Amino acid sequence: MSYALTDEQLEIQALVRRVARERVAQRADEIDRTAEYPQDMYDLLRELGLFTVPFPAEYGGTGSMLSAAVAVEEFGRVCYNTAYLLLVQWLPFSAILAGGSLEQQRRFLPGLASGALRGAFSTTEPQSGSDVSGIRTRARKVDDSYRITGSKIWCTNAAVSDFVLVAAKTGEGDALGSINLFIVERGTKGFQVGRKEDKMGARGVPSSPLFLDDVLVPADNRLGPEGRGFKIVMEAFNKSRPLIAARAIGLAQGAIDHSSAFIQGRRAFGQQVSDFQGVRWMLADMAIQT
Ligand SMILES: Cc1cc2nc3c(=O)[nH]c(=O)nc-3n(C[C@H](O)[C@H](O)[C@H](O)COP(=O)(O)OP(=O)(O)OC[C@H]3O[C@@H](n4cnc5c(N)ncnc54)[C@H](O)[C@@H]3O)c2cc1C
Repeated sequence: MSYALTDEQLEIQALVRRVARERVAQRADEIDRTAEYPQDMYDLLRELGLFTVPFPAEYGGTGSMLSAAVAVEEFGRVCYNTAYLLLVQWLPFSAILAGGSLEQQRRFLPGLASGALRGAFSTTEPQSGSDVSGIRTRARKVDDSYRITGSKIWCTNAAVSDFVLVAAKTGEGDALGSINLFIVERGTKGFQVGRKEDKMGARGVPSSPLFLDDVLVPADNRLGPEGRGFKIVMEAFNKSRPLIAARAIGLAQGAIDHSSAFIQGRRAFGQQVSDFQGVRWMLADMAIQT
């Protein structure tokens, strides 16, 4: 088994590395400082066709999450927010691909792949984050629809999204099989995106609470068969977690890049700081751990 990147992955890496250096790096600081959504970076990703990368070939992609991780890592190296724009689009994509009906896939995947549609994904509530089974949002079946009531926190991208995948429990019980994901479209009556969080980092991509007050969604907006929601969430997380790790590796590599440039440019006690052995050890440790 080969652990080397394929020629195609090396091409993606080279393209993203060049674009990141030439067109993204100079915006990174401003995006985080102003906490403004980087529409220009979104447009750039669209223009380059990068949202498409992990999608199956029929949607114009490579079908490879490793290729997606390569792109995320390279952007993460210079701009965490730009890397986040890819990640946050790919979580609803993974869920719809894992559990959506053919009709739902045809309805949403082309738009997510091209960037014409933006999505978000919401499981977290004030009392339950890692423990998805603890959600309290309820979806009550009424004829051919569901009425959803509850609230969410930390929904990233909801403020700019065309739709949010919202996790809610159906019926009266609390079993894992009661969890379902619902496609809640922007502007649906009773659905509100709250004020964005004033975050310590990743400030360009907004995270907000959601409020759902008797929100009526057609049964066709339930993702996949009844009771499959928890499994779909876990399958989507299986895809997104390595990407989150890739972004962290990019961030760590970016710290090495900055440190390395600094110690080579700075002089102290009559010599370049990079010539102090203790400093070199620290850089070596950083490289080993990245
Ligand atoms: C910037 C940001 C963006 C986010 N975006 C989204 C989003 O778009 N959609 C969404 O749904 N959520 C989002 N979240 C929420 C995120 O998914 C949760 O914060 C995460 O699941 C952890 O949940 P929690 O914060 O409630 O912590 P908890 O689950 O309460 O965990 C508290 C602590 O206990 C530890 N812990 C929990 N369970 C275990 C265990 N089994 N074993 C050992 N230790 C454990 C955790 O590691 C943590 O240290 C976002 C969060 C942040 C910070």
